[in-house]
Formats: sequence, structure tokens, C-alpha cells
Amino acid sequence: MSARIIDGKALAAELRAAVAAETQRLVTAHGLQPGLAVVLIGDNPASKSYVASKSRALVEAGMRPFDFKLPAETGEAELLGLIKKLNGDSAVNGILVQLPLPRQINTSRIIASIDPDKDVDGFHPLNAGRLMSGLPALVPCTPVACLKLIKTVHESLVGIDALMVGRSHIVGNPLSQVLLNENATVTVAHTFTRHLPELCRRAELLCVAIGCAEFIRGEWIKPGATVIDVGINRVTVDGKSRIVGDVNFSEAVEVAGAVTPVPGGVGPMTIVCLLVNTLRAACMQAGLPPPAV
Ligand code: NDP
Repeated sequence: MSARIIDGKALAAELRAAVAAETQRLVTAHGLQPGLAVVLIGDNPASKSYVASKSRALVEAGMRPFDFKLPAETGEAELLGLIKKLNGDSAVNGILVQLPLPRQINTSRIIASIDPDKDVDGFHPLNAGRLMSGLPALVPCTPVACLKLIKTVHESLVGIDALMVGRSHIVGNPLSQVLLNENATVTVAHTFTRHLPELCRRAELLCVAIGCAEFIRGEWIKPGATVIDVGINRVTVDGKSRIVGDVNFSEAVEVAGAVTPVPGGVGPMTIVCLLVNTLRAACMQAGLPPPAV
């Protein structure tokens, strides 16, 4: 048996086109061009590359980028001052502060200072609380991306046995809540979980976000299950560096019903979901109905 490969790259391209069309509609019908401020502090190469691809995607979708590149020694007060300015700027519909931040800056204080209505990363405690309460919220981009990928396999998640491996504030926790809000039966696993292989074997939907290269083995996967691999791990094999997920892909593909590859699965969709969140934020702030993407 060979699983269906969920092609995140192709689905992201489709979604990007839909976002661009919706952006154009907002501009034409309401004179509203969504704007996103991206704040990068320091010169961490991975962060620089993420920020560059986010800004590129934004421009391609017809949105307005506001880029702020600050030196590594920037202080917390200065960053809080910039966020305050952006909170009050009506041309800025979304604010993204690229993480991780340098040591002298308290990340929680920065996240809490962002206007929740402009919190396109969905990390603000108010948005986390709204998601928990089943209220409309800006939801972190990766869980939004995962749900969109899952929905290409399962029209409905009602009653499905789902296992979320990982419980970070960025991926695992919000994704388990997103699945719960879809009426899946959700189990959450973490480093203290016992009998993980057995738990995995029960899951019709297995989502993994742990940051451990190829940790989930094929023999742990229920035959026919849908597997969403969020992990991005750089490994060196035979002197060559490559990216792998948290799931052993070549084994998983023999057992699962559908599986996301790494790279080319969750990653490309996550960036487009940042644009989706920016559209949502812009519509919300203008008192318009949510965008059709
Ligand atoms: P964190 O390190 O913040 O969280 C990891 C979670 O996994 C923790 O809850 C931890 O449990 C759990 N965990 C770690 N090892 C095990 C294990 N052996 N068994 C069970 N649970 C385990 O990671 P993130 O959630 O931020 O990221 C996870 C992965 O996803 C990384 O590879 C990251 O690069 C990738 N990622 C990909 C994105 C994308 O767009 N594709 C976006 C964001 C992240 P505990 O809480 O007990 O410590």
C-alpha cells in the first residue's frame, strides 16, 4: 500500500491565488489594501530567511508590507514603543514580531503588547483564550495550515480519533484545540506520555510537532491513517545536509492513508496562512464579513 501524498506546495499555490483574488476584491470594493508589519530584530539567518519569504508572499498577494529591521541590541522599551505606534496605525492590519527575540527582550511582554485584533500570529493570550472558548479568534498559522491540509482528506472530523503529539503554544496546543472545535476526539501526547507507539496506533488522524527527526516509525501508524508531519529538522546524511520531518516518511508512506511530506507539506501552507490571517484581521477591523478563503 502506498499513501496519498498531501501536496502542500500545490495546495499552497492554490490558496495563494485565492488570497490574491480576495485581496483584489477588498481593494476594489472597499478601498482596503491589507497591510502587515513584520519586525525582525538582529540577524539570525533562519529568521532573516523566514521574514524575506513572508514579505515576498505578501507583496505577491497584493498586500502592503511594512518591514522593520532593528539591530540585535535593540532594547525592550524601544520595541514596545514601535509596537505601540503600529497598534495605532490604521494602515497596519497585522503585526508580526519574528521569534526568537534576543535575550534582553521578554517575549511574553512583547506578544501581550500587540493589539489582539492585529495579532496575525495568534500568540496573544486573548486569542489563545478565544480559541479555547470556541469564539472567533486569530489562530496561529501552522494549526490553520494543518486543518486546511486535513480537510483535503476528511470533509468532516466529527468523532474522529485524533492524536496530537506535542503541546507547544505555537503548534501542538492550538492545533489540538482546533481539532477539538471540529468535534474530533483529541488525545494530546508529550514527553511524559507513556506508551506513545500504542497511542499512535489508535489514531485515525496523527499530527506530530515535536522537533525530533523521523521519530514516529511506520509500525506505530494505524493502517490508512492520515498523518500530518509539522516537524522541520536538519540532519546530515553521508555528509549531505537535508530537511526531514518528525515522522519517518519512507515507512509512513507504506502504512498511512495520506501523509504530508517534509519539505513540501505543512511548511508552504503555513506562510500562506499568515496572509489568510492578515486578510481576516483587515476584514475584522473594517467591520466586514470574514474573507472567503
Ligand atoms: P517545541 O520544542 O516548542 O515543542 C515540542 C513539543 O513536543 C513539546 O510539547 C514536547 O513535550 C513534545 N515532545 C518533544 N519530544 C517528544 C517526544 N519524544 N515524545 C513526545 N513528545 C515530545 O516545538 P514546536 O512546537 O515549536 O515545533 C515542533 C516542530 O515543528 C519543530 O521541528 C519545528 O521546527 C516545527 N515547526 C514547523 C512549522 C511549519 O511551518 N512547518 C512551524 C512551527 C514549528 P513537552 O511539552 O513535555 O516538553
